[in-house]
Amino acid sequence: MMTVAPRSTSPKDLGRSISDHLTYSIGKDAAHASVQDWRMALSLAVRDRIVEPWFASTRATYGGRLKRVHYLSMEFLIGRLLEDSVVNLGLDNAAREALRGFGVDYDEVIHDEPEAALGNGGLGRLAACYMESMATVGCPAYGYGLRYEHGLFRQRFDHGRQVETAESWLKSRNPWEFERPEAAYEIGFGGWVEGDGPKKIWHPAESVIAAAYDTPIIGWRGRWANTLRLWSGKPVQEFDLARFNRGEYVGAAAAESLARTITRVLYPDDSTEAGKELRLKQEYFFTAASVRDIMRRFAQGGEPVARLPDRVAIQMNDTHPAISGAELVRVLIDDFGQDFDDAADMAVRVLNYTNHTLLPEALESWSEGLFRKVLPRHMDLVERIDDHHKRRHPSRPWELSAIHHGQIQMGNLAFMQSGQVNGVSALHTDLMKDSVFHDLNALHPDRIVNVTNGVTPRRWLYSANPALSGLITETLGGTGWVDHLDQLAGLEPHVSDPGWLDRYAAAKRTSKVALSNWLGKTMGLTPDPDALFDVQIKRIHEYKRQLLNILETIAFWDAIRQNPEAAWQPRVKIFGGKAAPGYAVAKEIIHLINDVAQVVNSDPAMKGRLMVVYPPNYNVSMAVRLIPAADLSEQISTAGKEASGTGNMKLSMNGALTIGTLDGANVEIREHVGPENFFLFGMTTQQVEARRALPDHARKAIAGSPELSRAISLIATGTFGGDPARYGRLVDILTNWDSYLVCSDFADYLSTQRRIDASFGDRAEWNRMAALNTARMGWFSSDRSVRDYMERVWQMEGSYEPAAKDAGRATG
Ligand SMILES: *Cc1c(COP(=O)(O)O)cnc(C)c1O
Repeated sequence: MMTVAPRSTSPKDLGRSISDHLTYSIGKDAAHASVQDWRMALSLAVRDRIVEPWFASTRATYGGRLKRVHYLSMEFLIGRLLEDSVVNLGLDNAAREALRGFGVDYDEVIHDEPEAALGNGGLGRLAACYMESMATVGCPAYGYGLRYEHGLFRQRFDHGRQVETAESWLKSRNPWEFERPEAAYEIGFGGWVEGDGPKKIWHPAESVIAAAYDTPIIGWRGRWANTLRLWSGKPVQEFDLARFNRGEYVGAAAAESLARTITRVLYPDDSTEAGKELRLKQEYFFTAASVRDIMRRFAQGGEPVARLPDRVAIQMNDTHPAISGAELVRVLIDDFGQDFDDAADMAVRVLNYTNHTLLPEALESWSEGLFRKVLPRHMDLVERIDDHHKRRHPSRPWELSAIHHGQIQMGNLAFMQSGQVNGVSALHTDLMKDSVFHDLNALHPDRIVNVTNGVTPRRWLYSANPALSGLITETLGGTGWVDHLDQLAGLEPHVSDPGWLDRYAAAKRTSKVALSNWLGKTMGLTPDPDALFDVQIKRIHEYKRQLLNILETIAFWDAIRQNPEAAWQPRVKIFGGKAAPGYAVAKEIIHLINDVAQVVNSDPAMKGRLMVVYPPNYNVSMAVRLIPAADLSEQISTAGKEASGTGNMKLSMNGALTIGTLDGANVEIREHVGPENFFLFGMTTQQVEARRALPDHARKAIAGSPELSRAISLIATGTFGGDPARYGRLVDILTNWDSYLVCSDFADYLSTQRRIDASFGDRAEWNRMAALNTARMGWFSSDRSVRDYMERVWQMEGSYEPAAKDAGRATG
């Protein structure tokens, strides 16, 4: 039935594969096929072309006994895979042409794919970029995570309020995954532990099968492919039946309902700790299955366990997989016959931990009671791991224990068990050493390293921005820049050529027109492409300070109202982002933005001057539409709060200038693009600390800024939404608390925005600055980040051989 997996990239052969799949895999006649049928057929035809390089990569990895990275992450915010795969195989032109031959529109097919939104925001998207980059640089790797039935919720607005509905990305068949019935592990929870010796027997009260689903991730030019293995919960049928027959009805039913629940839904919190029993079970479930899978594969190699650190690196993406340390120790003792101390020492040579936040409310901890109830064997192991660390470091102060006031501090635990611990930007890594990990860093001065985040240029520049990437390819004489992003520096000499700069500006305008048309179609608002497109897209959180932006919007609106005929620089304020369903303040901020949009957009005096647009349901696909069209990138978090940010990189690469604080990777972006091409404002981390200690800092700031004082009183008197009480809490937070220093940074922010207006007025100069941003952002490719990990964290230099480079392949 199946055709031989072809490797040809010609439109004719691809068309033949599509047609075969439509007929034999989907069972549809071309005359009656829907867009979804064509998407399935194209996806399967593309997948056929991934399988061979995928197998070849696996053979090269095990044949060469190469070290493998295992990237453990609760979240992979992949988005749509079809376009990535098509682009990386160099099939973009062929796919377009082949579909045209059937009278089918390629773009419509691409947009039919549901998003795999298996993540909340930056952390999950980073994992997706790293999977793509590891495949591109030929780093042998497995991603391990959870196959949530429902990814991040879908957002809509009802009278301006966020309403969440379930997202069902698996409603139609997922053409990318391969179910692996042979890779299944029974994962237990609860119960009791038997035995006093080193070998204990755990009798779980319930268990769930972790069933593997594999998705191949293909790198640029199709040279290498890695596996993303996601675990799904399945009931343990035979076991249940036995218990049921013994009369343990409740136990049997509990296991079945847990199996149905455990991978049902992604926790929708971002930057707050979930602290729920089901969450702990999810974490253990995917971590235990992954560690067993890793060790089973290692055992198949027949090498002594002493070789493990030469073959296996495990990367913990934040502390969510931190139980993998205890699980690895358990497997080394139970299945590999090691004694406890050897197992604990070995674990440190295998595990590494990436810290993503210093926000106290987001640092994971579990109560000892809950942990012991759900994972009795592992509670025991955590105590012994902590004791082992203490014995190895007798000078360790008592506060450094992994267990503190009856809480297991997952950050401390992960730190103790990791060979390297990394922050995600230079500033964040420094702050890690100064704050949460100050004492552990003193004990282990070589353990903390920095790896600044990056983003994949394949998705975020090459395919997101065809207008600009076409110009870059033509200017640089080829697509070498797509996987050697430093080559963007070759654009720099052209920046002083007015003709070239006009073409750069024309590319930006093409993206702005496309966005404007899309907003017109979907929102009924068609912004003028010649206005300044000012974009803030990210999760809604107080520390990210969307409130600062909307307050300035109100002040700008008010200023225009006072003097409509002045020479205002036309501006379009674009917001995008979701709030965690339980985060009431963030949801009020959303409501306020929508209420302000309502007032501004219906004010005739704003026509051609100011528009506020907030398209609902920000996700990867929307990011791809918005980012190429942005003139200004809002990266305005309170200094010290944003670990890195990656949206900041995507936007700058695409020629948006940043208005930003000295926070996260903004600091490094500014160094790379040059301070004269970056709009800096606001307090530094140290100034923030000092200001917060000042009594009544918010009131003082409000008293010092008439614009701010007026904006707040406009809110407090019901200008937006009609009801003065509606934003009572936001007004109270701003005037009486203001933990994120919105008021104290307001005046500087406002005057920087007015400087930006003036700057945008000199369009040639603005375009030059934008082009310099693109030319100087090459360092922020996630290929560079992955190479940093290989060198600084995974110790992989020289241990791997990238697959044969057949550079002659089509590039699209
Ligand atoms: C890049 C990205 C993020 C991260 O944005 P930040 O501005 O770094 O917080 C979040 N969500 C989506 C969909 C993204 O593409």
